[in-house]
Amino acid sequence: MLYIKCPFCGMRSQNEFAYGGDASVKRPELNKEISNNEWDDFVYNRKSLRGKHIELWHHVSGCRQWFKVQRDTATHEIFKTAKMDEQI
Ligand SMILES: [Zn+2]
Repeated sequence: MLYIKCPFCGMRSQNEFAYGGDASVKRPELNKEISNNEWDDFVYNRKSLRGKHIELWHHVSGCRQWFKVQRDTATHEIFKTAKMDEQI
C-alpha cells in the first residue's frame, strides 16, 4: 500500500487519491499561434520517464485539492509533496 502525504490533510492511503499526470507539462501561451504538433505534444504526447518525477495528484476522497508529488516511478518512493503554488 502506498501512502501519500497531502499538504493539506497529512498522510493518507493511496486509495483516497487520483493520479493527475505529469506536472512538468506547460500549457501553450494563450492567443499564441501554435502548430498541430505542438498542440499534440501538450494534449497527448508524454514521456514515460523512469526515476524521479514530479506528478499531479488529486485528493478525491479528502480535501479535493490538487497538489504536486515528487516520486520515483520505478520504486514508488515519494520524496516530497507540495501545494500547487509551492516549489518542489
Ligand atoms: Zn487533502
